[in-house]
Amino acid sequence: MNYQSTRNAALTASSAEAILNGLAPDGGLYAMPALAGLDFDWKRCLTLSTQGMATEILCALLPDFTHAEMERLVRAAYTGKFETEDLTPTVPVGEDTVLELFRGPTSAFKDVALSMLPHLMTAAKKKCGVDDEILILTATSGDTGKAAMEGFCDVAGTKIIVFYPDGGVSAVQKAQMVTQGGDNTCVAAVRGNFDDAQTAVKQVFAKVGSESLLAGKGVRLSSANSINIGRLAPQVVYYFRAYADLVRRGTVAVGDRVDYVVPTGNFGDILAGYFARELGLPVGTLVCASNANNVLTDFIRTGRYDKKRPFYLTSSPSMDILVSSNLERLLFLLSGDEQLVAKLMRQLAEDGAYEVPEELKEKIQSLFWAGCCGDAETKQTIGKVWQEHHYLCDTHTAVAWNVAQQYKAANPGHAPVVVLSTASPYKFPAAVLEGLGERAEGDEFAVMEQLERLTGVSAPKNLRGLRERPVRHTTVLDREEMLPFVLKKAQEKKWF
Ligand SMILES: *Cc1c(COP(=O)(O)O)cnc(C)c1O
Repeated sequence: MNYQSTRNAALTASSAEAILNGLAPDGGLYAMPALAGLDFDWKRCLTLSTQGMATEILCALLPDFTHAEMERLVRAAYTGKFETEDLTPTVPVGEDTVLELFRGPTSAFKDVALSMLPHLMTAAKKKCGVDDEILILTATSGDTGKAAMEGFCDVAGTKIIVFYPDGGVSAVQKAQMVTQGGDNTCVAAVRGNFDDAQTAVKQVFAKVGSESLLAGKGVRLSSANSINIGRLAPQVVYYFRAYADLVRRGTVAVGDRVDYVVPTGNFGDILAGYFARELGLPVGTLVCASNANNVLTDFIRTGRYDKKRPFYLTSSPSMDILVSSNLERLLFLLSGDEQLVAKLMRQLAEDGAYEVPEELKEKIQSLFWAGCCGDAETKQTIGKVWQEHHYLCDTHTAVAWNVAQQYKAANPGHAPVVVLSTASPYKFPAAVLEGLGERAEGDEFAVMEQLERLTGVSAPKNLRGLRERPVRHTTVLDREEMLPFVLKKAQEKKWF
């Protein structure tokens, strides 16, 4: 029993159960309190291939799986699926290093985890003796939905329903989702923003659980959101990959600190950096970069989390989030106090805000630095990085790049900086083109071609030809319709 709910120490689970359940029964997240106590040979890990690193790290974080088994799952998840066998290459850009997390099947960093999760989940199902079909429910701010469907597409014994905010995703993101193939995939737009969709999905889980609405029906719900520990664990690997690359290039020696700048939404990506640190990797400061929805910037600077603020639709939509779910895990791991976490989460639900005790705030500030960047600066940054370094970055990466420069200016003693790049520029071509000072013409697909002509950087294969693919998913729902929709789909034998 390595995992427990962040809100109740009595609710424990093995790593396999935590993967199967997604969310703990009390609405808390599964966390492993003893992370730093693990005996982990991080130096040896740096000498391995990316798949080798993944096997070691995942075995440490998910101890139900044997080494040989994990090796097989990692191979099945990643071999031949990414543009390089490194999976997540690094590129020196000026005096910093960009860690490219978007070289997977859907050109977003979510691919790293969502290629792995279905394999972990089907193996976990066997381990727990569960015969039920697994129905994945996922709310997406744009990228998770597609990457999750691609990961789960036609995986036996699983089905997946994705909810995205109607009008809250880019045209390319929407096209990627509504054209999704596979007999076990389903996509619905929800009227409202991402937080509305995510909150509603959590309510569906709670209601189905508390009222046993699917009991005896041969189906059980699970989640592919970054609240699932099986999503988080695979992301730890690229912090090691990047560090090993810096060692190989002579930028650092083994043991030197490296600072990581992370474009942050739900706090999953950056929390994986904290896990890497707990496993021994010399992670220096974790820099949390936000767009105009800067609730985390304020929180890290002041200790007060306040979601009662305007919600902005920005050019970096995957970070348009005011309730960062995974922050709950950090609060738990740093305080070790699940009663405090339960209280804070209650305050967040009831009052829309909470404030952490001084001691916890200081701990957070000793590990994290935070900054934000609005849409105008994001575009300027895209242009600047292109002009100065001939490197083409997307809007999310530009937010991180901009905050990285703020961080360096404010902290002259900083370590070498790795900027995490979370999406291909071709997922947000209009905004990127405007950043280069050009006017976007025609629909997003025409703009993609325009961007290719202008920069000579070619678009990823999976995004080309998207326009011609037939639309298979057209459902639009109000939030109140989500529960009945899920119950109906759960009991349909065949979707296509
Ligand atoms: C999901 C996502 C993020 C934010 O990651 P979190 O783990 O939610 O903090 C940043 N950029 C892109 C492109 C994403 O898809």
